[in-house]
Amino acid sequence: MDLSYILNHLGEERGTYHGAVAPPIVQSSIFAFPSVAEMRRGFADEFAEHMYTRGNNPTVAILRKKVAALEGAEDCLAFSSGAAAMSAAVFASVRAGDHVVCVAQPYSWTRSLLRDLLPGFGVSTGFVDGTDVANFEDALKPETRLIVLESPNSMTFEQQDLSAVARLARSRGIRTICDNSFATPLNQSPISHGIDLVVHSATKYLNGHSDVVAGMLCGSDAIMREVFKGPYMTFGAILSPHDAWLLIRGLRTLAVRMERVASTTARVLAFVEAHPAIRAVFHPHAVANPQLALSQRQLSGSSGLLTIDLATSEISAVERFCAALKRFLMTVSWGGYESLAFPLCAVFPPDVPIRPSAALPLSLVRLSIGLEEPEVLIADLDQALAQL
Ligand SMILES: *Cc1c(COP(=O)(O)O)cnc(C)c1O
Repeated sequence: MDLSYILNHLGEERGTYHGAVAPPIVQSSIFAFPSVAEMRRGFADEFAEHMYTRGNNPTVAILRKKVAALEGAEDCLAFSSGAAAMSAAVFASVRAGDHVVCVAQPYSWTRSLLRDLLPGFGVSTGFVDGTDVANFEDALKPETRLIVLESPNSMTFEQQDLSAVARLARSRGIRTICDNSFATPLNQSPISHGIDLVVHSATKYLNGHSDVVAGMLCGSDAIMREVFKGPYMTFGAILSPHDAWLLIRGLRTLAVRMERVASTTARVLAFVEAHPAIRAVFHPHAVANPQLALSQRQLSGSSGLLTIDLATSEISAVERFCAALKRFLMTVSWGGYESLAFPLCAVFPPDVPIRPSAALPLSLVRLSIGLEEPEVLIADLDQALAQL
C-alpha cells in the first residue's frame, strides 16, 4: 500500500457518506440495533461492533486503520494521550509479581508509570542503558515479562538496536513495547524489527498542529483485543471523534511535513554543530553521535528534534539565550508546524547549580524544528547565541 493512499484514502468509505471528501465526525455516543438478535451479536464481539463510543466509533476507526497501516501493524487503538496509550500497553502486559526492564531515560511520564505507580501493584522495573543490548540481557530476571524501549529517546536521542532487543526478548517469551513518537512510522518501523507493540504520542508529529493531545497503540490483532478488553475499556481513556477527525486531517500532510522538517533540520544541525557557543549537539544524525552508524541503519530519515548544550556555566546565560529567541516559542512538547525551544533548567528551581558533567546538564536546550524557512530559524539562533 503506498503512503499517499494510506494518508488520503485508507479507511474512508466515501460512498456511505454522500461522497464527502472529508469524513464526517460521527459525534454519537451510542449506536442502535434493529433487533435483539443483532444487539446480542454486538455484545458477543464489542471489539468489532459499533455499540458505544468508549469501544468503537466510525471516525476513530478511520484513524486506527491509517495508523495501523503506517506502522505495518494488524490493528491499533486510539487513546486520549500518548501517556494513556503507554499505560494501557503496560497494564495489559504485566501482573503482580512481574518484572519490567526499561531504557534509562524514557519519557518522564513513562518513567513515573514504571518507577512510581507500578510498584503499588506489585510490579518492579529495572532501568538500563539501552545503547548496549547486553545490558538488557544482564537485567532480565525469571519474572521479567516486558521490555519498554524508546528509540531514539526525546532529550538526548539514545537508541536501542531494535532487532537485537526483539530477538533477545522473543527467545525468552518477553513482550516488547517501543515508543516510536520521535521517528514516526515514516522513519522507523519497530514491528519490522520484531517489536510487539508500538506507542505514539500522536500529539507530536502524527498530528503536527499543536491542537490535539492523543496517543496510538499498534500491534497484533490478538494483543489489541487483549488491550481492548482490559485497560482500553476499563480505563476509558479514549480519543473523541472530533479529535480523531483533527488527527486524520493532520495526517494528510505527514509526509510533506516530515520531508520539510528533515531538510531544515539538516541545515540547522550544520549551523549549531559549527557554532563556538555550543558545547555539544544531540541528534541521531549529529556528526558526534557515537550511535551514528545505528541511526543510519535503523532510521530512514531525520526528525526535527535536537538538543544543544550551551557553552556556559551560568543559568542566567541560558535564560538570556531563551529570552532572545524570537521565532522559537518557549514551551514543552514538539512535533508541530512551529519551532519550539525547551530549556531543561526551566524544570528546576532557579537556585539549582549547573551540573557540567552529568548526563543531563542544565545548559541543555531542546529545539523542535518546525516548517519555517531554514534561514529564518538559523538567523534567530545566531542572534540569540550572541546574547550568551
Ligand atoms: C509527549 C510524549 C509522550 C506522551 O504523550 P502525550 O500525548 O503527551 O500523553 C510519550 N512519549 C514521548 C517520547 C513523548 O515525547
